[in-house]
Amino acid sequence: MESRSNDKFDFKAFDEGKYIDSVRAQDEAETISRILYPNDSTNEGKKLRLKQQYFFTSASLQDLMIKYKADGHKNFDDFSKLHSIQLNDTHPALAIPELIRLLEKEGVDFEKAFDITQKSMAYTNHTLLAEALEVWNKELFKSVLPNLYPYIEEINSRLIAELREWKIDENEWHNFLIIQNNGIHMAFMSIYATRAVNGVAAIHTDLLKTDVISAWHRLFPDRIVNKTNGITQRRWLLQSNPQLSELITDQLESNEWVTELDRLKALEGMQDDEQVLDRFIDIKREKKKELAEYIQFHEEVDIDPDSIFDIQIKRLHEYKRQLMMAFYISDLYNRIKADPEAEWTKRTFIFGAKAAPGYYMAKSIIKYINELSNRVNTDPEVNDIIKVVFVENYGVSYAERLFPAADVSEQISTAGKEASGTGNMKFMLNGAVTVGTMDGANVEIVEEAGRENNYIFGMEVEEVVEKRKNYDPTSAIKRTPGLKTVVESLVDGTFQDNNTGMFQNLYNNLIQEDQYFVLEDFESYREAQDQIAQDFKDEKAFYRKGFINMANAGKFSSDRTVEEYAKGIWHIAKQQ
Ligand SMILES: *Cc1c(COP(=O)(O)O)cnc(C)c1O
Repeated sequence: MESRSNDKFDFKAFDEGKYIDSVRAQDEAETISRILYPNDSTNEGKKLRLKQQYFFTSASLQDLMIKYKADGHKNFDDFSKLHSIQLNDTHPALAIPELIRLLEKEGVDFEKAFDITQKSMAYTNHTLLAEALEVWNKELFKSVLPNLYPYIEEINSRLIAELREWKIDENEWHNFLIIQNNGIHMAFMSIYATRAVNGVAAIHTDLLKTDVISAWHRLFPDRIVNKTNGITQRRWLLQSNPQLSELITDQLESNEWVTELDRLKALEGMQDDEQVLDRFIDIKREKKKELAEYIQFHEEVDIDPDSIFDIQIKRLHEYKRQLMMAFYISDLYNRIKADPEAEWTKRTFIFGAKAAPGYYMAKSIIKYINELSNRVNTDPEVNDIIKVVFVENYGVSYAERLFPAADVSEQISTAGKEASGTGNMKFMLNGAVTVGTMDGANVEIVEEAGRENNYIFGMEVEEVVEKRKNYDPTSAIKRTPGLKTVVESLVDGTFQDNNTGMFQNLYNNLIQEDQYFVLEDFESYREAQDQIAQDFKDEKAFYRKGFINMANAGKFSSDRTVEEYAKGIWHIAKQQ
């Protein structure tokens, strides 16, 4: 990273509004935004991120205010009536102190500016992982944004005054204070200075209220609301799967589902229509063939469209448990080697993921899956039965080829960790079954499509909470046949990590802590996975489950989500 170009940005000139509409502004914007999600494991990376957050939020707010004034408003009394600013996670949360600062420059006093800001803004929380909540080091923050820090102090003081007024015990203040232990808590600021906070799936919102920010919920019982995430059927079905789109339009004798996804429900009654189901199966096969050709070209791996396509595609994170799926494959490999003549169901396991640049454990897991893939794919005794592919450079374009070709959707996060997930919805819409935990939007997916049409396994949230009190990972290894061999293969020379120590590190982490319960949930996951292999032997019955999932995906249209935000948070009416 070029640090000289980072330091060049002239915040003082930007502050004074000199950059709006200038050529210089474009230059600076390009410099500051050249790297998206910079590696923030160094102070340089952290500073660049903070500059990016400030640049984009301030530019947006300055733009809003210029337009507001150009519309002839003489003061800011109507600003909050005419604007709704949705903070998508805490990354744009600097908009809070920045709007107050900009309003003060226009002659509005602090109390009034705070009120306008709070009435204008709402905040969407996207994570339940405490370690993922943004906390900026106070000194670093001050060094990058000296003009903004005093406003954060003022907001924090206002909060303290209220905590005193409400007689909140000082022992409880750590649940609220925006500035504490030399850190600036962006989520606390976003809850305090906005008028609505929302989670992105029902279970996520419940956990926000009862666990993660329960103290805030007691203080403001009406502030936290739910808006379950959605996806657009225009991209994730119409564009990426024209064949299935045509089948749906033919059967419904209408393409209204393109803007009203609930219409899919009428397909459910056709699940026993042989012709419809056969055509659905033919289309799935065609999409699997298209993907197989693409993978042959790009990854140089030959996969069989007659096998189950079992796919896990999402950011690489320990809580998402890509490692648990890899362990299942490793165990299955061992079982096939022990009895190669048994009637094994053919299966193709596909992974796609990127790791954050500074996330060493995630990179270790990618390395392990690639080594496992090499082992399986080059063993002539098993490579007619199973294949493992880790696709290169996973992104939206690759995703558009993967979702339509999936038979099985992997949604196997530790219960209580995945806020919603949206990949789960894309698979469902394309007629895959979910193997998953009761986490995030999986809960609502099985509520809509039936638990009997999916493969739910593993500990639920309450069980995870209970288990964490007294967890010994080695007891799961002792209890579960085959698991010891799989875990030991990380360190017994079976797999090579080029002497990086990566696999020993993975091993130590599991044996000593296993904070995401990979070992504890392994047995239950293996049962669900083995059931899928069994059920696939009756192809019609298996694909009927996928078909029913597709027919019940209506709830997960982002059209529904956007309407809920419009009505419940932004208070804007739909144009008729
Ligand atoms: C939908 C999507 C995601 C989100 O996947 P989850 O399984 O919900 O984590 C990530 N990356 C890409 C490219 C996607 O299309």
